[in-house]
Amino acid sequence: MNTAKAAEASQFFSQSYAEARAKFLAAAEAAGLDAEPHWHPLLGREGERLAMDLVRQGPAKARKLLIISSACHGVEGFCGSGIQTALLSDAGWLAAVRAQADLAVLYIHALNPYGFSWLRRVTQEGVDLNRNFHDFAQHAELPANPGYEEIANALLPAHWPPSAADEALLSDYAARHGEAALQQAISGGQYKHELGLFYGGRAPTWSHQTLRHVLQEHGAGANDIAWIDLHTGLGPSGHGERIFAGSAQDPNQLARARAWWGPEVTSLSDGSSSSAPLVGLMWSVIERCCPQARYTGIALEYGTVPLKAMIDALRADHWLEAHPEASEDQLRRIKQQIRDAFYIDTPEWKQALLRQAFEAAQQALNGLEKSHEQQ
Ligand SMILES: [Zn+2]
Repeated sequence: MNTAKAAEASQFFSQSYAEARAKFLAAAEAAGLDAEPHWHPLLGREGERLAMDLVRQGPAKARKLLIISSACHGVEGFCGSGIQTALLSDAGWLAAVRAQADLAVLYIHALNPYGFSWLRRVTQEGVDLNRNFHDFAQHAELPANPGYEEIANALLPAHWPPSAADEALLSDYAARHGEAALQQAISGGQYKHELGLFYGGRAPTWSHQTLRHVLQEHGAGANDIAWIDLHTGLGPSGHGERIFAGSAQDPNQLARARAWWGPEVTSLSDGSSSSAPLVGLMWSVIERCCPQARYTGIALEYGTVPLKAMIDALRADHWLEAHPEASEDQLRRIKQQIRDAFYIDTPEWKQALLRQAFEAAQQALNGLEKSHEQQ
């Protein structure tokens, strides 16, 4: 991407889901690519239809597949959608994809379109999609989170904003166990409080089920799959942390991710990431739906606001969901707060996002190409 284009980064980003979807579809059409909508059963905040939209560039039978996905966490989709639209609008990128005969790129626009449109991180089921990938049918015991139990009432008190006593309880937890343990308790995932934060659900969500169908169809012919899943909310503003999204049991996966995307690739399991260790992660869907494929993936996690501000925005939004009697004014303020916590609406931030995303996308192409040479 050239500098003049970078200065115009803002044009690819949007102010609503509806606008983001329109820009994405227009960019696909201009690139001569078809879009395949998977319609969502509910309507959006502006009365618009919602969909998980797919655009595929490359042969239907390509053995190498690069997935680039947005809005796993709905409101984070302002970032991912802008990046997808910028990629689809970039002649150099499209040509680089075309240059590899046996490769396809699958853009998944709005994994969680409901959360994107309604400015929520969770799905319409109130579920954190990136904690929802368990084999629920096996009736396996869902992971316990005793830390969350201890602070649940202070996190989501009856009144908002929270009282000094609520805040003191959280600070006290951090003082006793450490800040990292507090982050782990809040964000690690929990399966008991349906209206709570980072709730993983008790069944596959619409987004989970739809993604399985998508991957069964688009991943079946691939033997080498790479995935960049776009997120926001953790780390320094505008910095894209490359977080390994793969099996801690398979050291080759992490080694490959670091060979492709650099030694700075962090891991949830060794404390190197700004994220706490998590359960029920989305990438595991590859193992289930495309067991034939070698898999290499990262979450590209862009920083927005400080951790406490991000968590407080989520607390406010979950409080709002549990309190439909809240005033119009409070609703408006909380929705602005959560949007601002996951989307920094400045040209500089957007430009920084695109620069790092284009680099990571190109590195994925290089990694897939090299693996061909080795075969
Ligand atoms: Zn996220």
